[in-house]
Amino acid sequence: MENGCVFCDPEKMKERLIWENADWSVVATLGQIVGGYVLIIPKAHIPCLGALPLGGAMANLVTTIYSAARALNLEYVHDDSPGAVSRILMFEHGIVGQTVKHAHLHLLPVKVDLTPKIVADFPTVDIDNLSDSDSYLQDVYASRQEPYLFWTTPNGDSMICWNPPAPSMYLRLITAELLGFPERGNWREMDRNLDNQLQEETVRRLKSYFP
Ligand SMILES: [Zn+2]
Repeated sequence: MENGCVFCDPEKMKERLIWENADWSVVATLGQIVGGYVLIIPKAHIPCLGALPLGGAMANLVTTIYSAARALNLEYVHDDSPGAVSRILMFEHGIVGQTVKHAHLHLLPVKVDLTPKIVADFPTVDIDNLSDSDSYLQDVYASRQEPYLFWTTPNGDSMICWNPPAPSMYLRLITAELLGFPERGNWREMDRNLDNQLQEETVRRLKSYFP
């Protein structure tokens, strides 16, 4: 790829690819904090999902997220209570903390609440619950135009923290810590053999859930 972006180069992700359509790819991430950890990546080179124009690709993002979260729930979490799919952990480094400068949404088959840690780490920044105002990330980003951290909670809430001074890979680091695998937080430093093994397993276990 002429822009040098790994997420614009399908060759770089083909072994980790679980599913794709015209607008989105679902891939096993590098740095498997837990098996089943995937990324949803737009084919278009945009900086963050907040910057995604509302319309076609946006509509099928919602169905792509739903399909991926449902697969994680069925294969790993096994929760059949109502709304379980929306309580899968998702997060995005909305430019803050990004290591690849191309939007990507993280999904992990776990139920942990990142909120107390984020509130404690960044006590002076604005944190909004998008579920309270029934707003889309894209709407609030359009009006505020600031870098952000986005995450979901085990209650099914969608949270956003505006322009915190967070380090690179911040949401990965705190998730790995909370799950008891701090050594897997930094994807560049994770044990390579273990990571490869978990990536292959994630692809194999999730592929059959997608059409
Ligand atoms: Zn790109």
